[in-house]
Amino acid sequence: MTDFVIPVPLPPSLPTTGPGRFPVRRIFCVGRNYADHAREMGHDPNAEPPFYFTKPADAVVESGVTIPYPPATKDFHHEAELVVALGRGGAFISEAAALSHVWGYAAGNDLTRRDLQAEAKAARRPWDMAKGFDASAVVGLIHPGPIGDASITCTVDGVVKQFARLSDMIWPVPAIIAHLSRLVTLAPGDLIFTGTPAGVGPLSRGQTCVVNIVGLSPATITIA
Ligand code: MN
Repeated sequence: MTDFVIPVPLPPSLPTTGPGRFPVRRIFCVGRNYADHAREMGHDPNAEPPFYFTKPADAVVESGVTIPYPPATKDFHHEAELVVALGRGGAFISEAAALSHVWGYAAGNDLTRRDLQAEAKAARRPWDMAKGFDASAVVGLIHPGPIGDASITCTVDGVVKQFARLSDMIWPVPAIIAHLSRLVTLAPGDLIFTGTPAGVGPLSRGQTCVVNIVGLSPATITIA
């Protein structure tokens, strides 16, 4: 048995619709995967292949939790997203085989310190502190099995802020898995946030933000 110098933490994990929990290994996020959101952020949606950023695995937040308004921001944003949970890993996965690596799906919210992201972009610095802060990856119950086309909606205090169909994605799930697996070797437990549609906007203290994808459980948070 290995002797560790500090206590070894349990892996971060998320509830599923069944009795077991899903252990989270890494969190990958796709940038600009809906044309209307790419345009609202000032980019040409047809100009580039998908790109990625990451969040720490322990940034995951379960649905129904109240989280503090994060430090170091005055522009804290919601981003409603489909989350893919991988049950099998691999490198150089083909698009045809990609969905066989998926364990399940969840609704998610890629919480963002938009002002820090804008500063990072302007200074050509990394996005980590804009995207990978504590409690920045909200994930609803993970549902095993496939998902078809469905609507994705984000509401803030009951007001619809984002609405799209999953089929509006520029890069569908199989294409993302195939492309990402050519950059890193994917592993069981990896989550992929697949990008957000237009309508991202601020969250204030006391507000409740709900991401709904038809067929999945909602991802809900309240800001303390
Ligand atoms: Mn996002």
